[in-house]
Amino acid sequence: MTLKNGTRRTTFRSCNLCEAICGLTIDHDDTTVFSIRGDPDDPLSQGYLCPKAVALQDLYADPDRLRTPVLRTDSGFVPISWDDAFDRIERELWKVRDTHGNDAVAVYLGNPTVHNYGAMLFAPKLIKALRTKNRFSATSVDQLPHHFAAHHMFGHGLCIPVPDIDRTHFMLILGANPVVSNGSLMTAPGVKRRLQAIQQRGGQVVVVDPKRTQTAALADEHIAIRPGTDALFLASLLHVVLEVVDLSQTLGPLFKNVSMLKSCVSALTPEFTATHTGVPAETTRQTAVALAEATSAVVYGRMGVSTQANGGLCHWLINVLNSVTGNLDRPGGHMFPAPAVSVVSQRGTLGKSGRWHSAVRQLPEFEGELPVSALAEDMLTTGPKQIRAFITNAGNPVLSTPNGRQLDRALEGLDFFVAIDIYVNETTRHANIILPPTAGLETDHYDLVFNTFAVRNVAKYSPAALKPAAGARHDYQIFKELTRRMTRRASGIGPRLKGSVRRAAEAWTTPQRLLNIGLMQGPYGASKKPKSGLTLRRLKRAVHGVDLGPLTPRLPGALRTRDHKVDLAPDIFVQHLAAVVSALTEPVPSDGTFALIGRRDLRDNNSWMHNTTRLMRGKTRCTLQMNPVDAERLALENGDDVSVRSRVGTIELPVEVSDALMPGVVSIPHGYGHNRRGVTLKVASQHAGVSINDVQDEQIVDPLTGNAAFSGQRVTVSRL
Ligand code: SF4
Repeated sequence: MTLKNGTRRTTFRSCNLCEAICGLTIDHDDTTVFSIRGDPDDPLSQGYLCPKAVALQDLYADPDRLRTPVLRTDSGFVPISWDDAFDRIERELWKVRDTHGNDAVAVYLGNPTVHNYGAMLFAPKLIKALRTKNRFSATSVDQLPHHFAAHHMFGHGLCIPVPDIDRTHFMLILGANPVVSNGSLMTAPGVKRRLQAIQQRGGQVVVVDPKRTQTAALADEHIAIRPGTDALFLASLLHVVLEVVDLSQTLGPLFKNVSMLKSCVSALTPEFTATHTGVPAETTRQTAVALAEATSAVVYGRMGVSTQANGGLCHWLINVLNSVTGNLDRPGGHMFPAPAVSVVSQRGTLGKSGRWHSAVRQLPEFEGELPVSALAEDMLTTGPKQIRAFITNAGNPVLSTPNGRQLDRALEGLDFFVAIDIYVNETTRHANIILPPTAGLETDHYDLVFNTFAVRNVAKYSPAALKPAAGARHDYQIFKELTRRMTRRASGIGPRLKGSVRRAAEAWTTPQRLLNIGLMQGPYGASKKPKSGLTLRRLKRAVHGVDLGPLTPRLPGALRTRDHKVDLAPDIFVQHLAAVVSALTEPVPSDGTFALIGRRDLRDNNSWMHNTTRLMRGKTRCTLQMNPVDAERLALENGDDVSVRSRVGTIELPVEVSDALMPGVVSIPHGYGHNRRGVTLKVASQHAGVSINDVQDEQIVDPLTGNAAFSGQRVTVSRL
């Protein structure tokens, strides 16, 4: 609901820029935002917001934002009408499909897709109409290992437990910096105060990371670990936990395969893994005992452990550690949220894999998607399976997927490329046509995805605050129109009739109508309690959102495994762990190379908030951070320019000497590299930066899941 106050009014919304979904109080009129503040009455964020939320208004007002479709010509992009744009897209995509088959058209959904319920609900319909197996998204450069582990242990790729951070007494965090990210696959706005609250109630926070991050700085203990070795550390942690825990007390009949679990880590002592991880055996033992003995505890891992060569193993071991310590599905532990709209199907399992493969490298699909690391090579390699046309939604894979220069070349060679995006960015500059949807504040929203990972059960409907310009289209309207034009017309009277009924049903569906159905059928819905249960109308009346309470135990009901048990040692993980251990080589190569890791700044949102000057004040953030010992070895000082080289490319950027990094490790933030030709964003020159993905090797993936393995890739650093 929007409270009216003359022409000026206040709208309460959730911020949909990142996973934290903070409650916002927005003062505005139809076209101008006067202020954006945190909403103290939001049941989840309780007034917290970060600087990015205030910049939401900049996205809306940005003169560089596209407001009409544009067509690429020899003299640059020129505006065209929506009808002309759709006609051209229909003609070109059908030409490719009819000539080369459905798989010749590939689709990529960028990260903002999941922050937009219209896109979430209607993009799959377009993909279905296209009938292509070449589907890609940001999942495989991000959280795919979480889905993989959840599928194999809990029976569904979205059955992902989250830390009950507000009640835990011990939190072990690996490869995550939630003080800056505000949680990921742990929707927890204001993480800093939640972590401090753990300490205030006598608990402990321990961070395992190659860098002393902002989260590590406030933790009780920071354990420095060599990038890419977390699976070994977790396995030795499990080795010790299994020695000290009485499993008859922590595991019930719900868990199976315990003896296999014990045998697969029996040789992985802390002394054995210390050589590789750099974590002293005594530290591992103490951490394991603290984890096992805590009143309640949770192990949490995110980007740094997801995007490494053993990301799948890491998330399996994290789930296992939470299980064997008795912390799975109990307050203060690792719990399954119960969102108002359930995205976990009641029937069957999600997470099928290997039904088809990428054309060149034969990487398997998972949940209907191929690893995006294979995208460019499948565009560049000629043959019957070559990708020749491309559709992106809210994506900038040139900057966000490994070997961006290769993807640049691949996009140049396409027969046709249509991008749904509000900017001409590093990726969409290659598009033939760009379709710009409305900006965030012009659309209504309900967070279908991140309530599924929230540390408290809440529901909130966000009405649009600003009025879209005449003729503007929402994402879902663009998807609907593309779907209509990409659906093959039925022939014959019977099929035609059926087709017209289906089209009428599709015309009736809107995000709001689907949301209402989802709310009514959800666990708090009016289908169960007609007089008081949730409907969209009732939710709209609760302008700050509805608090549905703390997380509650949900097992075995939340499981989607066929036997309704948690498999602690699925074969696929056990065998892969053995293969990883038998292939171990020298812990640190003696070739003088460095292990490269990424990092995030509170004011960055991947690649796409760099056009707002509000967030881009101050000195350059795109630097190579390096330990003083390494800087001295290379005779480097703060601000010196260096080249960073890998198999796939070379980038040049200034050095920032920092003892927060482990020796032998260097760090570059991702999302930069805006100085490519044709990009119309006016990013301040000191912030254009370089793209870390121009040196990230697309051939290095987690062999288990296909997720890009960014963390720990080896690079050579030289003084310029
Ligand atoms: S942390 Fe910042 S960007 Fe993320 S939802 Fe909250 S206000 Fe928005």
